[in-house]
Amino acid sequence: MNTEPHHRVGAIKIQRILETQIDFSPPASLLPDWDDGALLGMNGLHHNPRTTTQSVGTSVHSWLLTTDTRTILVDTGIGNHKKRAAPVFDNLSNPYLERLEIAGQTRQTIDFVLMTHIHSDHVGWNTILSNDRWVPTFPKAKYFLPRVGRDDFESEAGRARPNHAIYIDSVAPILEANLAELVEPTISEVLPGITYIPTPGHSVDHMSILIESNGEKAIIAGDILHHPAQVYRPEWNSVFCALPEQARASRLRVLEQVADSGALYLSSHMTETSAGRVRREGNGFIWRFE
Ligand SMILES: [Zn+2]
Repeated sequence: MNTEPHHRVGAIKIQRILETQIDFSPPASLLPDWDDGALLGMNGLHHNPRTTTQSVGTSVHSWLLTTDTRTILVDTGIGNHKKRAAPVFDNLSNPYLERLEIAGQTRQTIDFVLMTHIHSDHVGWNTILSNDRWVPTFPKAKYFLPRVGRDDFESEAGRARPNHAIYIDSVAPILEANLAELVEPTISEVLPGITYIPTPGHSVDHMSILIESNGEKAIIAGDILHHPAQVYRPEWNSVFCALPEQARASRLRVLEQVADSGALYLSSHMTETSAGRVRREGNGFIWRFE
């Protein structure tokens, strides 16, 4: 039985496919501006068992969208058996594909894979190891990825970066198999009701994904934020935000859009259900899990 959180947005069923959970201790190792006192004003966040003054929990997962005619996987986690510098990402062996099966899908039934950005915890299950080669995990899927990310990793600077391996083992095989569709950094409806929106800052290529069906909306905003505390403190960047000012501006813009549209917010890294609503309160925002 699938006990994972699931939601419905119009005619689209949305399920989370968990890969792993990672705690950051102390909290400032994820959110450098963290202050314990601020947490008390955050609508009971201090009751969250995975958020304490000693550490904050994060989740790594995909969102599976199922319509009458399509199955869409958004972001693909860290992946198994990948060689990574960070120990929490290195050579993992998680039952991610088994969890996908519990949710009713297999490697053969995914029609589309959508990436919010090319980071190691968002592209990993793009590929699996087969006879010592990295091959597309979802051979029948079309994989959408931001063109800016592809260009960045193929630039001279990108090729020299220590994290270039993620591109080689998790993105290049998709391009070589002609399964990739590059998304331009503009508002782009790539499938009916599925629209990419540029939200750069966390990374140069970062994009969010708006989901619309029968008048209802949800947004998967990738890593514009990692933790509900950032709803209350939109100026708090994570240590992973490459362009600090753009990251703050994109976070604020998405929070305003989500609060004003009433869209369901589907987080890429929050724990609990990883989903909820943003409301305006005073000059800021509040968060409630759903
Ligand atoms: Zn991430």
